[in-house]
Amino acid sequence: MTSEAEKKTEAFDVVVSGAGIGALTLANYLAPLGFRILLLDKRPGLSPVHRGELVQPLGLDILEELSLLEELRTTPHTLYRSFDFRDWQGRLLMRSRYERGRGPYPFALAIEPHQMDQVMAKNLSSHPNVVLRFGAEMTTFAVDGQGVTVTARRDSGEESRILARLLVGDDGRHSRVRELSGLSLGNGRIAPYRDSYLGGSLLLPEDEKEIPPALLDPTGRYFLGPRSIFFFFSVSARRRFFLLLLPDSDRDAFFSRGTAPLLARLDTLVPGFAALAQSEGYGDPSRYLPLPVWKVDLDRWCIDGVALIGDAAHAMNPHVAQGRNQAMEDARVLAPLLAKALLRGPLVRREDLQDYESRRRPIARALHRLADEMTFVWNSGNPAVVAAREISFRGIGRLADLETKIVTTIGGSVIAPLTPLDKLRAFAAGLFSPPHD
Ligand SMILES: Cc1cc2nc3c(=O)[nH]c(=O)nc-3n(C[C@H](O)[C@H](O)[C@H](O)COP(=O)(O)OP(=O)(O)OC[C@H]3O[C@@H](n4cnc5c(N)ncnc54)[C@H](O)[C@@H]3O)c2cc1C
Repeated sequence: MTSEAEKKTEAFDVVVSGAGIGALTLANYLAPLGFRILLLDKRPGLSPVHRGELVQPLGLDILEELSLLEELRTTPHTLYRSFDFRDWQGRLLMRSRYERGRGPYPFALAIEPHQMDQVMAKNLSSHPNVVLRFGAEMTTFAVDGQGVTVTARRDSGEESRILARLLVGDDGRHSRVRELSGLSLGNGRIAPYRDSYLGGSLLLPEDEKEIPPALLDPTGRYFLGPRSIFFFFSVSARRRFFLLLLPDSDRDAFFSRGTAPLLARLDTLVPGFAALAQSEGYGDPSRYLPLPVWKVDLDRWCIDGVALIGDAAHAMNPHVAQGRNQAMEDARVLAPLLAKALLRGPLVRREDLQDYESRRRPIARALHRLADEMTFVWNSGNPAVVAAREISFRGIGRLADLETKIVTTIGGSVIAPLTPLDKLRAFAAGLFSPPHD
């Protein structure tokens, strides 16, 4: 431990704890304005993590505004104009097409998150007023009328004291900034969702002739069965990513019979999957990437000297495929308010950021409501719920206005959940339409 007197002291306008997508987006908005910004992250760096995520039209719009979309499109990715929803026999229930949405782009990009983070970080490297510091953990902070004093510890054990006018918590679902600031208190909810996911990444052979057509086909496919979800999609020409629902009730039993029955089942949905998964090590249960799913729903996101963004403020169920995109939108809304507040005084106060909270929190709440409903319906093993789900999916696929609502909401710019009447119409339309193939 370093003594108080030995601690190195630095001064910045904004310190961000965490260098996730929210922090990187915020820094990209503020950097050209000349503010001194420090991003601290306890990770060693932006090293590759073979996961897949969707950048929705909302995120694409933000990247375009930052002049980074073209650059992202030069990195490995897959462009999706639609996603297929299929039942557990592999029959098509619905195809959701982005061109039917009211978002700014008729497509989404599937990427490995580090690719996008690296594009954002590279752009910051041309701004000497922004410092990106990995291997540095925010440990404590204190706020007084003169500003915020943040303490950080490097991997080497060296501690430093940083003076700032605002501390932003982009430190994820287990946010320390949130805990220390008291923003966790109140009537909100911070808890794991009832089920979680397992993830896996597959590299296709170089020679296309060796690849079974169902694996080569980049179509994004959600297979929904009783207490089962298998999401299979492409993140580049040669990489495929999959997510599997891990029901809490089966957590211990999931691999009890080994992985062979599971892989054989998935192979009926995507022929060729089992052999490739085996060859990539997924015969071993420990190879699967555990992806816990948390809900963070708070009454307040800001106090004097502190603001939360991203998962720290509103971690949400990935059924809505929005967490990354909403973290970016937090940054877009926060940046201009913050820029004004930084010109005003030594400490950014809660009232300076009131607009940020009042514009963003209702959207996060609406997405939470939608995600809770989707979790109930999508994760269900109840035969009546499963049957109603399949009928309704088929009905949505036949009613253009409902498809528009669904893809607009998935796009992230406008949240337009189905009303009870919409759901009734979907069910009625689906009752008389058989599965497509
Ligand atoms: C299975 C799954 C699928 C998903 N799919 C999608 C999708 O398709 N589209 C989408 O938009 N979103 C998706 N998400 C959500 C998305 O991954 C997150 O919402 C997003 O990454 C959150 O970004 P963030 O900037 O808030 O924080 P994070 O990415 O959580 O980053 C937080 C950072 O803070 C650092 N940190 C933590 N504590 C400290 C500390 N004390 N000091 C310094 N650093 C600290 C961590 O090292 C980490 O780097 C998915 C999530 C899951 C689980």
